[in-house]
Amino acid sequence: MAAEIGKILLPADRIAGRVRQLGRRLARAYTGREPVLVAVMKGSFLLAADLARAWPGPIDVEFVSAESYDGTRPGAVRLRLPRGLRSRIAGRPVLVVDDIYDTGATLAKVCRTLEALGPAEVRTLVLFRKRRARPRAGPAAEPAAVRPDWVGFDIPDRFVIGYGLDYCGRYRNLPYLAVLRQGR
Ligand code: 5GP
Ligand code: MG
Repeated sequence: MAAEIGKILLPADRIAGRVRQLGRRLARAYTGREPVLVAVMKGSFLLAADLARAWPGPIDVEFVSAESYDGTRPGAVRLRLPRGLRSRIAGRPVLVVDDIYDTGATLAKVCRTLEALGPAEVRTLVLFRKRRARPRAGPAAEPAAVRPDWVGFDIPDRFVIGYGLDYCGRYRNLPYLAVLRQGR
């Protein structure tokens, strides 16, 4: 099982340091306003918790769920919103927080869906963004891309695990980011 944990791309202390730095920057960017941090579950559960604790000012936190991966294969994005979300974000600045940006399909779908609920604005933060020349073809690449407003780290275009990211439901709890090692 641990044989699936490959090269460590980002150790825990680098992630923690960057998240604390982003928390301070965001708090400055939102001075005088109280945003709703909308975390995209499950992948951003650690990020949301760490970012919220690094945020020196007032914020509210909400959770939406997105699912698109089947193992390591991307598919169509399915989104679930909690009941009553509209009244909690209407007229307020929303900051969508996601673990990783690959094709951008998830972020595009989340943003479009939240924008329809009447927030004052929607901005976005992703902790990891895969470096790649152009979007991958396929169902996950369909919605118009959203450029994240804040990015923690640009990483190689590999399937990664840890710090919230899973492979078949495992490894989300790793405090670092590693490449998934797969047998042939
Ligand atoms: P996108 O919609 O941008 O193509 O992909 C974003 C979503 O796919 C992320 O929120 C994440 O759940 C999942 N994802 C993309 N790349 C990876 C990866 O390398 N590892 C894992 N575990 N999930 C990924
Ligand atoms: Mg995700």
